[in-house]
Formats: sequence, C-alpha cells, structure tokens
Amino acid sequence: MKLTLVQGDITEQRVDAVVNAANSSLLGGGGVDGAIHRRGGPEILSECRKLRAGHYGKGLPAGQAVATTAGRLPARWVIHTVGPVHSASEDRSGLLASCYRESLRVADTLGAASVAFPAISTGLYGWPMDDAARIALETVRTAGAQVEDVRFVLFDAAAYAAFEARL
Ligand code: ADP
Repeated sequence: MKLTLVQGDITEQRVDAVVNAANSSLLGGGGVDGAIHRRGGPEILSECRKLRAGHYGKGLPAGQAVATTAGRLPARWVIHTVGPVHSASEDRSGLLASCYRESLRVADTLGAASVAFPAISTGLYGWPMDDAARIALETVRTAGAQVEDVRFVLFDAAAYAAFEARL
C-alpha cells in the first residue's frame, strides 16, 4: 500500500473514495462534512437520509463507516465515518483507529483502489493533531487492506507537518 500526504481540500481529490468526517446524524455538519455536501450536491444527502430511514435509524455510531455515492465530487464514493469526540478523561483512541480500519474495510468491499482521508476528529471534535496523526498512520499501515493508494489530505500546513513527522 502506498501512503501519501497532500495539503489541500478533500473535496477536490480524484480518488475512488473520499472519507467524510461525518457526525452520527449523517445529515451534514461543519468542516469536512459541510464541504463534501456543498461540493457533492444533494444526491449524497438523499442517500444519507435513506440510510437513516433504514439500517441506521439511530444514526451511525462512532468508529463505524458506511458508503454513499459521491454525487458531483470527482470521486466515485463517499465513505462516511464518525470520529470520537476527544476526551481528556477517557481514552477513545480505539474508536478513532476503528474509523480508519472500518473505512478501509468498506473501501475493500467497494473495490476502491484509492482512498483519501481527512484528519478525522481533529476539527470540531478536538483531537490533538500529533496524536491523531500517529493513530491514523499506524492503523492504516497495519490494517491489511487491499486498497493500493491511501492519501491523507491535510487542510493546513500544521496538520501536514504533524503527519509528515509521523510518516
Ligand atoms: P471532526 O468533527 O471529525 O473533528 P472536522 O471536519 O471538524 O471533523 O475536521 C477534521 C479535520 O479536517 C480538521 O483538521 C479540519 O481542519 C480539516 N478540514 C476541514 N475542512 C477540510 C477540507 N475541505 N478538506 C480537508 N480537510 C478539511
């Protein structure tokens, strides 16, 4: 598996699947989630609503992943995963690792060869970037996925530097 880092916007990535740092409602939010729905158009939200009406009536739990169309994005699928909110009193790193592992598992099921990840949980959910980078890279490296090309798309220079230091 090839791992690459880019600084940029995840909605612009030409890959088979982009991963969304979603919230458990699956009905949109800020950060990556907002950008994906804005750029991807209403088709993604309409599939998310169907998921909520079906198997995910209570929403998508943290650490799990599910795919929809990518609408107008230059990707084939969006894989929605819900990161844990960072906590100083409880170790939730297993859930963060699970986001990466489950997203890759879904990507393998789809037959996606290339996947772009944002730095899950490092925005609104408050996970320290350096620790998030460690968990992301370790988990993806050891997941044993068929995906050939994994790209981490870091929004700013500080996030890029944190991932670069861990790679
Ligand atoms: P979470 O709720 O899981 O913390 P956010 O979407 O708030 O997710 O943020 C996750 C990370 O993605 C943050 O580091 C944020 O700066 C970054 N980010 C925000 N918008 C984009 C984007 N369009 N492309 C890539 N990364 C983004």
